[in-house]
Amino acid sequence: MTRITQHDIDDLFLQQLRDWDLLQLNYQAIENVKTREFAIGAARFKVQFNPARITSSAAKVDDRSIKQRPCFLCSKNRPPEQKGLPWGNDYLILVNPYPIFPRHLTIPTLRHEPQRIATRIGDMMRLACDLNDFVIFYNGPLCGASAPDHAHFQAGCKDFMPFNNDLIRNGEIHEVAACNSATLGIVTNLARTTFIIRTSDIDDGIVMFQRLYEAIPVANGVCEPMLNILCQTENGKLRIDVFPRAKHRPSYYYAAGENNILISPASVDMGGVLITPLEKDFAKITATDIKKILDEVCIDQATASLIIKRIKS
Ligand SMILES: [Zn+2]
Repeated sequence: MTRITQHDIDDLFLQQLRDWDLLQLNYQAIENVKTREFAIGAARFKVQFNPARITSSAAKVDDRSIKQRPCFLCSKNRPPEQKGLPWGNDYLILVNPYPIFPRHLTIPTLRHEPQRIATRIGDMMRLACDLNDFVIFYNGPLCGASAPDHAHFQAGCKDFMPFNNDLIRNGEIHEVAACNSATLGIVTNLARTTFIIRTSDIDDGIVMFQRLYEAIPVANGVCEPMLNILCQTENGKLRIDVFPRAKHRPSYYYAAGENNILISPASVDMGGVLITPLEKDFAKITATDIKKILDEVCIDQATASLIIKRIKS
């Protein structure tokens, strides 16, 4: 299994920024990106105006549209300038050419196979250990992944998303379960319901994640529970933040005329950085809109109670 170090990632960025014009332009643009800041109770949010993300935010992810487009994560369709670092048994670490973070990676599998987390949560934790400066994130196939047909993680600079600091400073975590080195807690005072796994051992983390995964309700015919996941190292241990989801996109996304806000929430939005590809939305969005979007796309209290009941029984 191929492991890499933070140093290899630094070299990859240097090389790709030097040799790929589009990448250089897009990373210069992200240095000067416009943001607005909001607070909802103890949680802080940044709204980022990022026009280059329109392709991802407005991506059609129904089966028919997916089958009709060339997969942009398959090697034969990737830009010739894009170079990757092999990682693990079947992954490639790539620099994301349409960044949200000052450093943004996409980490697809070598083979074209569906986006699923159940068998890959251990890989996610191992990636977090190797990429110590990054938070690794996973968008479920119905929760923001614009390539639901090709398994991948992404990674961005640690501490860029406000959720991390909010959790450490203000998060009221209620313990749900504990087993060996792993604990599972729930936090509901940061404007969205989040389950937090902390562990010093990857195998213990996998077991705890499976308990949570199996307890999250799944609609009929859907391949996995709707969720977004952030994973990072924290004081030498691992932390996994799981955001179970109720909906893919909020009603604002489909609203006509003035009421429309083009936001398609994924892990980064759950982490507290909302991406607006259109300037009209960036200018008009309010804290009330953000709260409404989160209330719609995240699980309600009854679902959270059901999940806890299932885990405890
Ligand atoms: Zn593919």
